[in-house]
Amino acid sequence: MGTQFLHVVLVPIPSQGHISPILQLGTILHTRGFSITVCHHEFYPVDPSCFPHLNFQPLKDGSSNNNGSCNDDSSSSFNWVDSILSLNDKYKVSLEDSLTQIVRASRQQINNSLPCVIYDGWMYVAAQVANDLNLPSVAFHTSNAGNFMNYLITPRLFEEGHIPIQDSKLLQQVPGFSPFRFKDLSLPSMENLDAMLKLSTFFCDTRTTSAMIINTIEFLEQSLLEMLKKHFQIPIFSIGPTHKVSPTICSSLLEEDTSCISWLDKQAPNSVLYVSFGSIIFLNKEELTELAWGLVNSKQSFLWVIPPSSLGGLRSLESLPDGFEDAIKERGYVVKWAPQKEVLAHDAVGGFFSHCGWNSTVESISTGIPMICSPNFGDQLLNARYLSHVWSIGIELEKGFCREEIENAIRRLMSDVEGKEMRKRAMDLMKMVEASVRRGGSSSNNLNELVDFISSF
Ligand code: UDP
Repeated sequence: MGTQFLHVVLVPIPSQGHISPILQLGTILHTRGFSITVCHHEFYPVDPSCFPHLNFQPLKDGSSNNNGSCNDDSSSSFNWVDSILSLNDKYKVSLEDSLTQIVRASRQQINNSLPCVIYDGWMYVAAQVANDLNLPSVAFHTSNAGNFMNYLITPRLFEEGHIPIQDSKLLQQVPGFSPFRFKDLSLPSMENLDAMLKLSTFFCDTRTTSAMIINTIEFLEQSLLEMLKKHFQIPIFSIGPTHKVSPTICSSLLEEDTSCISWLDKQAPNSVLYVSFGSIIFLNKEELTELAWGLVNSKQSFLWVIPPSSLGGLRSLESLPDGFEDAIKERGYVVKWAPQKEVLAHDAVGGFFSHCGWNSTVESISTGIPMICSPNFGDQLLNARYLSHVWSIGIELEKGFCREEIENAIRRLMSDVEGKEMRKRAMDLMKMVEASVRRGGSSSNNLNELVDFISSF
């Protein structure tokens, strides 16, 4: 048997939707006996006092004066591709230094065990650094198999002449990737073609990686997972959703306003629409106005999260249109940040109007809540298609933010038979998620295999 790897180093990317699952994974592995160090980006700290069981080591960005976060672009045209490429460049040296120090310290310990590096798939430079130091590494994809497949097929779609995509093809099915349409994929435009192809290659490169972890559940993406397993020569562990497996941890980077729970306590069962677009999306003034009046005109009760303006752009409560507050009176409640998982699990919540980030999607499925889908970029587009056309628990908006369509979708979801049927299907999925994470379920078994795998390099 080789050296025992009982120390795991986690390398997240600085974004709420990515930090939570990786800290959940760290917490799970800690309960299985691993010692955990988190190499986090210095300008995007989590509160270490919430995680006394984890060690934290800051990574330094020597190159710039921005806040180092993936979410630091306050415009609506947030550029994920450039942010990720630059993040990997900027933190490589610091990661090399940190891992070298960790290896040196490990060598001085009695059992001489070396760490295994588990990195967010977008922080692919960690695989190269680990390989240079002769450390095993495992990629953790905090989104789903569909998202990974999107990047895997991008070079092929380019070679076949589909990219840059023409408007006339947007509604066509993607060859070999049913039921997704070109419109549902993250695809490069002429301007970011080279950058996106480069990113796709780095993201899907498994040459120096020992295994892949995906925060998905087998029954949700069975056929895609089988395709990926055939394609790659390394083990793939679907262990999701990590928030259901991990002991509860507070990984929120913003302060949660729990007053909304007292407000929900006063509402009737299934009567409230929860509205939140995650931590990255920025609504412009027009979108915010359309959304506000769509909510008012629907006459449905709602809880709306509008994160603080400190995160940029027009995200402040002050941006709401004149007359909005009077119009909603007792029916609406607005907070800057909510305890989302608790909100979704509350009896009063009957629907989720979401951007369809993967965490929000699995949190909604795990609580049996159907959704209104308004995706913006990246995996959100694909998740919305899954929700509306594969799992049939979501209504996708087709016209962006338009008050009439929003009002109509809210009625369909919250009052019509269509919505009731979706809620029933969502409850069925919730039970299947529970079975997956229970002893003997697929995610539980895969997690056991992952633990054995990283214990026995
Ligand atoms: N979230 C939260 N409170 C809020 C809004 C969001 O705790 O008011 C959490 C949510 O539970 C989820 C994460 O923020 O875990 C957002 O991740 P997601 O992948 O859905 O979207 P992203 O922010 O990455 O676009």
